[in-house]
Order: sequence, then structure tokens, then C-alpha cells
Amino acid sequence: MALLDGKVAIVTGASSGIGRATALMFAAHGAAMVLTARRGALLEEIASTIRHDGGEVELVVGDITQAQTHERLVAVALNRFGGLDIAVNNAGIIGPLKPLVAISPEEWQHTLQTNLTAAFLGARSQIPAMLTRGSGSLIFTSSFVGTSAGLPGMAAYGASKAALMGLVKGITADYAAQGIRANALLPGGTDTDIAGDPSTKEWAAGLHALKRIAQADEIASAALFLASPLSSFVAGSALFADGGNA
Ligand code: NDP
Repeated sequence: MALLDGKVAIVTGASSGIGRATALMFAAHGAAMVLTARRGALLEEIASTIRHDGGEVELVVGDITQAQTHERLVAVALNRFGGLDIAVNNAGIIGPLKPLVAISPEEWQHTLQTNLTAAFLGARSQIPAMLTRGSGSLIFTSSFVGTSAGLPGMAAYGASKAALMGLVKGITADYAAQGIRANALLPGGTDTDIAGDPSTKEWAAGLHALKRIAQADEIASAALFLASPLSSFVAGSALFADGGNA
């Protein structure tokens, strides 16, 4: 079943990991895709796969900490595909893995800029385009680290990811009545570049009740649910795809 036929979707951080898997899955479900990241060569490879499989895709190579990148993404969605229905604000970094006192103000700022402010900038550009259609689904990739007991060396990352929940609640209060659904997706440890070396991945696996980390496709499936009509009454919510965070 093609869940996203006729829909137009932006995915940030589409060059690798969860964003890449989400882009491929959404395209396979019929959405026209507008993808962004800084590594253009990787985006081109993903675009080739989508086009080869009969899908439609446009690319915007850019830095998500810049408002201009989001403005360009929305302009491409409107000009090339005629609207915007779905935005997955997924790009993120792990930031400094250090105890709090060792984190520099610059490292803190960079982590918050990338994981939180960029999501605000994205939503700020995306929501007006969705309002003209009277509906839209915004998905923010948070992390189990944002709500779990806290993990050593992850104060900046955890703070940035926890704050996304406040962003989701605020957008819901402001725009749900106009048909905009905003939700957070909280993956557990997932087998991507961000997850670190094999020993870190093994450590992360032990944090989850399922005793393994996720494959990127398993997180993309959860994003697909939030993007599709299957979640039409889910708004201002947090979907945990964390293997049962123990
Ligand atoms: P990856 O490192 O594979 O993907 C991160 C993506 O973000 C890349 O596409 C990267 O693209 C993009 N990105 C980072 N900084 C910027 C920037 N300044 N401008 C534009 N794009 C940027 O890791 P994941 O797929 O795992 O991460 C995706 C999301 O999932 C992140 O928000 C992460 O925090 C979250 N998450 C991941 C978990 C895990 O264990 N893997 C667990 C919980 C949450 P490029 O470098 O090409 O710009």
C-alpha cells in the first residue's frame, strides 16, 4: 500500500543513516521528495536510486543551521511539486561527548544550533506552506537520550533532544487547530554513523530491552507512520522507537 501517494515531503539529514532510509521509504510510498544535507555526492546517489525506482526527488545541498537552507527547501517543494505536506526535521549531531564542565560554550552552542535551532528554523519555513493546504505533518527526530535517565557525557545532546519535545508541544498549541500535526520521534540506538564504533553500539544495545540496536529502516517505518494518514489523530506526541528503553 502506497501510504504517501500525491504527498510532498522534505527530509533533512538525508545523506546517511535514518534520514537516508526515511527518504527511500517515503519515496517508495509515493511521496515526491525534497532532500537536504551538506554532502551533495551522497544525496545524488540517493536521488539516483529514487529516480531509478520511478520516484521524484529534488536536492538542496546546504547547512540546516542556516535559515536560507530551509527557505530554499520550501521554495523547491512549492515551485517544483506544488506544495508541502510532510517535513522530517531529522538532521543532527551527537555533539561533545564529555562531562558537562569540559564542554566549551562553543560546543554547547553548536550542538543546540544543529539539533534544536535548525528544527525551529525548519518549522518556521515549513508551517506557512502547510497552512495553505490546511494540513501537514511535522516530524522531529529527537532521541531516547532526551527523556531517559541520562547518559554520561551527553548533557548537550540530551538537552537539545529534550527541548524538541517543547517545540512539538508549542507548535501543536499554535497550529493543530489549523490541521498541522507535529510529533517527535525518539529512536533508540540505531546502526548509523552517529552511533559510534562497534563497542559503543554494543553498549547501546544493552540499554534497550530488546538487547540490540535498531536498523535505520526500523526508525524510518515509525516516521512513515507519523507522516501518513495512519496517524491522523496523533498530534503533539512522542513516538518511542527505542526497543524498550530499559
Ligand atoms: P547520521 O550521522 O547518519 O546522519 C546525520 C545527518 O544529519 C546526516 O545526513 C548529516 O548530513 C546531517 N547533518 C548534520 N549536521 C548538519 C548540518 N549542519 N547541516 C545539514 N545537515 C546536517 O546519523 P543518524 O541517521 O543516526 O541521525 C539522524 C538523527 O537521528 C539525528 O538527529 C540523531 O540525533 C537522531 N538519533 C540517532 C540515534 C542513533 O543511535 N543513530 C538515536 C537517537 C536519535 P551531512 O553530514 O551530509 O550534512
